[in-house]
Amino acid sequence: MTIAANLGYPRIGPKRELKTALEAFWAGKLGEAELQSTAAALRAGARAVQQGSGISHVPSADFALYDHVLETVCAFGLVPPGYGWSGEGPVSLATMFALARGRAAERAAGIPGDAVALEMTKWFDTNYHYVVPRLSAAMRPRLLDDRWTRALREGLQHGTRTRPVLLGPISLLLLSKTEDGTRPLDLLPAMLPAYADALRFLAEAGAVWVQVDEPCLVTDLPSGAEDAYRTAFRALAEAAPGLNLLLTTYFEGLRDNLQLAASLPVAGLHVDLVRAPGQLPAVLEALPRDRWLSLGVVDGRNVWRTDLRAALAQLRAAEAAGFGKRLMVAPSCSLLHVPHSLAMETALDPALKRRLAFANEKLKEVAVLARAVDEGEKAVAAALEESDRALAEARADERLHDPGLAARLAAVTPEMERRTSSYPSRAAAQAARLGLPELPVTSIGSWPQTAEVRSLRARLARGELDKTGYDAEMERMIAEAVRWQEEIGVDVLVHGEFERNDMVKYFGEQLAGYAFTKHGWVQSYGSRCVAPPIIWADVSRPKPMTVRWSAYAQSLTDKPMKGMLTGPVTMLQWSFVRTDIPRETVCRQIALAIRDEVADLEAAGIPIVQIDEPAFREGLPLRKADRDDYLRWAVACFRLSASPVRDETQIHTHMCYSEFNDIIESIAAMDADVISIETARSNMELLDAFAVFDYPNEIGPGVWDIHSPRVPSAEEMARLAARAAERIPRRRLWLNPDCGCKTRGWAEVKPAMANLVAAARQLRARA
Ligand code: GLN
Ligand code: ZN
Repeated sequence: MTIAANLGYPRIGPKRELKTALEAFWAGKLGEAELQSTAAALRAGARAVQQGSGISHVPSADFALYDHVLETVCAFGLVPPGYGWSGEGPVSLATMFALARGRAAERAAGIPGDAVALEMTKWFDTNYHYVVPRLSAAMRPRLLDDRWTRALREGLQHGTRTRPVLLGPISLLLLSKTEDGTRPLDLLPAMLPAYADALRFLAEAGAVWVQVDEPCLVTDLPSGAEDAYRTAFRALAEAAPGLNLLLTTYFEGLRDNLQLAASLPVAGLHVDLVRAPGQLPAVLEALPRDRWLSLGVVDGRNVWRTDLRAALAQLRAAEAAGFGKRLMVAPSCSLLHVPHSLAMETALDPALKRRLAFANEKLKEVAVLARAVDEGEKAVAAALEESDRALAEARADERLHDPGLAARLAAVTPEMERRTSSYPSRAAAQAARLGLPELPVTSIGSWPQTAEVRSLRARLARGELDKTGYDAEMERMIAEAVRWQEEIGVDVLVHGEFERNDMVKYFGEQLAGYAFTKHGWVQSYGSRCVAPPIIWADVSRPKPMTVRWSAYAQSLTDKPMKGMLTGPVTMLQWSFVRTDIPRETVCRQIALAIRDEVADLEAAGIPIVQIDEPAFREGLPLRKADRDDYLRWAVACFRLSASPVRDETQIHTHMCYSEFNDIIESIAAMDADVISIETARSNMELLDAFAVFDYPNEIGPGVWDIHSPRVPSAEEMARLAARAAERIPRRRLWLNPDCGCKTRGWAEVKPAMANLVAAARQLRARA
């Protein structure tokens, strides 16, 4: 019988229960037992929904309180010293959260001391962030906390034999960093016994299938990885011979790693047929017929309903090739990356809603497809017809296409993607206009989104506050923020983005072509969630979006005010995007809209405009061979949005945590006058890419890690800035926090910003 399987379920809870519980726990308002019981209830709910939808392989241990990579590291005792773990016995919750979030200021002995949170980075090309393990050769991996068997038992107690999910040893190591110069894969021999224990205990506890996630198999593997895969899977297979391992790959095709994947001694292989539908024939050819084949035909990364007939055709092809008795139907990847359920979305355009499927709806699609394979199309005729109808309706929907926009896009010239002069002439014109000191201090844009700000927005939404009243409150907060920045001596001010719920949503709500959900939350990191908008039609800008606020803020001060926009690549990347036209085209549509806003800000007298592109790097295709094409259009879109202005108008961009080494050329090609980046946790090492490349324009390396609640001292920030100055000439350096301050409180932001100004002054004095 064809198995309907799931690879992972959203963790945050339909009503973000996990977020609420975590934040209460961190605030000391909820005990550990209560936190754990909230988590258990979420897992029970997830099992019930999945089983109720007809899924027979329900995953377990896919849940994590903060992050699954972090939990794996803690389970195996891969904890660096300095976080309160003695080296023996299970790793406490306190240690785990200290690894994720850093420890209180008084415990931190300077930077990058051992109490600083571990780095976080994006999980492949998603907007989910994992905590990057920091390994060293001295570590003694062993199974300290058998979270997998515990998860299995939890399911069994409630009558469900789940399929535990284990992050595979090679991907775990390849996603890690080492401190002592060892290569992560060198730790494999030490790791394998711990993994073997985990599998053996699972087998003893009654597991039948275990999902071993090896997403690194879809990437360009470093040397030695292939052998490591063979060694590792031989050991895993021997550890528990009776256990069925499902080697699970997602986010891309296997390409040159297909033979390797197909040859590993496992019971089955999962492949992503949404990202890489073309790999099916090769997979069918390569995989031995005694293996199970799990086909990811339902998109785990996007919100569109599946074309059931097309998916069924793929399943039939696998059946015809001889996998009929060993077939699984599944989402392409874990459903972690889509919202819980469409059922709660009562305000969406009904026609649009008919085209959507969130996690719960996707599970039903998986179950329908499995049934269709076994019982024939007639058995699921109604579901197939519904799918056909939704597709046909979308194709015929004239609202999707804006003929005027198509003409405007066709008329874009190369000059429109270029500033008038090159950077040196622009820099001179800008210096003359702005008159900034050396090492100018600025921020990334947002000031705290306090309870007060959020309650104002809630009151506006409920109609308790009218637009005039709301706007007046926004102006009051902007005025206070401007006064405070002037007082402490910030050089380039920002208005604070109080009016923005979210950097993508705020713009999307004012653009045509976007739709919004009410409860479409997706986990970003830890307790942080985003509700990505849905780009379903052509995007255009009916009217100015930010000019009012920036112009008001500028009217209050003689210091330069920086206008703040979200860039086209990020607007694309952090949305669920239509699939009926190329992503590049959608991005160019957005670029034109942002371009108009940039021009309007300049016309309103704003001397500096920042176009944030935090998602630039994460849009990078996983395979090197695909990267040039993406970088070509992503850079062009940024430049199209940034280039309508005169030389003396300064364009900034900002990127959050990114590795820049392999994209530095494209970062330079974006030709922003100033780029601010997140570097504090890396102790400025991320700047090396800029130094080696001799990056020609100005850079603001972050000297304050705003992801952690600690307030750095002026000395600490000055030390980081001095390290930056060893890499980048001082005259091209700016000082700023790592990122926006919207998630922090004023109690941290005020002293930290004052310390930042003090750090700049210390350094200027040390000329
Ligand atoms: N301007 C935005 C802010 O300050 C940038 C946020 C981001 O980079 N993610 O919040
Ligand atoms: Zn940022």
